[in-house]
Amino acid sequence: MKWMELVRKRIELKFILGLVLMVSVLSVSNYLTISGESDAKLLEDSSKVSQVQEDRAKDGENPSLEEETQDKPGFYENIVTVADGDATLVLVNKNYALDSNYEPYDLVLPNVLTVGGNRNQSIYLREEAAFYLEQLFTTAREEAGLILLARSGYRSYDTQVALYQRYVSESGQEAADKFSARAGHSEHQTGLAIDVTSDSVDGDLSILFGETNEGIWLKENAHRFGFIIRYLEGRESETGYQYEPWHLRYVGTEAATEIYENNWILEQYLNQ
Ligand SMILES: [Zn+2]
Repeated sequence: MKWMELVRKRIELKFILGLVLMVSVLSVSNYLTISGESDAKLLEDSSKVSQVQEDRAKDGENPSLEEETQDKPGFYENIVTVADGDATLVLVNKNYALDSNYEPYDLVLPNVLTVGGNRNQSIYLREEAAFYLEQLFTTAREEAGLILLARSGYRSYDTQVALYQRYVSESGQEAADKFSARAGHSEHQTGLAIDVTSDSVDGDLSILFGETNEGIWLKENAHRFGFIIRYLEGRESETGYQYEPWHLRYVGTEAATEIYENNWILEQYLNQ
């Protein structure tokens, strides 16, 4: 009968449609498992990460992914005591400390103007650093007519203990850690660091010093005499200190020039 045939064809058609539908559902769900949103995002993110790695490698920094993913110790964690405090390139920071007994053997009083105009302020530096500081101050005056003033040089371990404690009691530890070193961690204990300022900021150790003629000249010329601005602007998370345009560290002219030309911090120079 004709109507029975029609019914059979309809049933067949439905069956075929059903099969097609089932196959499509299966392949769609399969597709979703392979490239569901989160996976796609992961893939995208990891390609971004490797792109960043490549870019950094091109710039000569952070070349390996392994290094990037390794946990770096936080400040004041995994502290290493430096072996040779007398080295010109000694690294003293929040992870490298000088022994509490370390004292430089060749401290001298550099012949430079100091805040208050008085040389009896006990601003000592190691001999080589003192010699070059004198050259730096003289050249600033002769080349640019600028008068620099020294404010703070060598500090003993015990002095730093007292200083840091005072800052902690005044401002709390978190704030104190941003501008003051814990004892053993101060570059001033090396005898190679000096704080320099000028009358244009009333002899203060102020961030404003960086904007004065003296501060700008220092930024552009200190390396000629072996000094670097140790705590750079914008590098606070790496150095662990706020920008300090007044804090000079003696490293020798070769290292200072390379650090200055590459806009590096000391850690970058030592790790290259
Ligand atoms: Zn300083």
